[in-house]
Amino acid sequence: MRTEGREISKNFKLVREIGGSRIVHARGCESIRNYCVDGMEEISEYRPGKMRPCAHCERYVFVANAAKDYVEHIREYHEIFDKLSICSVRRLFKKSRRHMDLEIIGQRLYMRVDRERWYIDISLLAIGEVRVFHNNYNITKRDNDDAAWTEVGYHEHQLKGRYETQIEEAIMQAASYDYEKAKEAHKAKQKNNRRVTFSELDAEYWGFSDGLMGYQKMR
Ligand SMILES: [Zn+2]
Repeated sequence: MRTEGREISKNFKLVREIGGSRIVHARGCESIRNYCVDGMEEISEYRPGKMRPCAHCERYVFVANAAKDYVEHIREYHEIFDKLSICSVRRLFKKSRRHMDLEIIGQRLYMRVDRERWYIDISLLAIGEVRVFHNNYNITKRDNDDAAWTEVGYHEHQLKGRYETQIEEAIMQAASYDYEKAKEAHKAKQKNNRRVTFSELDAEYWGFSDGLMGYQKMR
């Protein structure tokens, strides 16, 4: 539904100056604090290439664009994404070939990337603990029936200290997972132990796409 126009709703996520300015601000930006949005118009999505995020709230522009519940959970989203470097945030939302959707349900931050579904238990963040979980699935169904593969619960992924913060690593791990690469590694391992399931192995190994990890190595 089109929401562009001169009216700003009380639930606005993204605004820009009326008159075709390319600079986009997210709700919560310090330069539009106190809902001082006079002379601005609401926009429904951030379009890279046609718009530019404000220098003060760049990370929030990306998050607001990815999270349909950004307004409802703005405090949680800011706390979580303030812990990521701006380079990672750009990588995640701007340069990544994939699209990540975010949603907070109860105490879980869900991240959907392509067909994968992940969550971080946000109730643990207050005590400094980060745990990230990845969906289980029936590998035969997944490989043979594009529409009907089933998720059955979740398994935990280990964090390996590749990033400055664990929360950053958890999010980047979800963003860079590569199912086909993970499957190859699992097949090699299964030759040695036929009783181990895909999901059990998945917690030990995950395939990273070259783009994200290659970038990380250069930092
Ligand atoms: Zn701004």
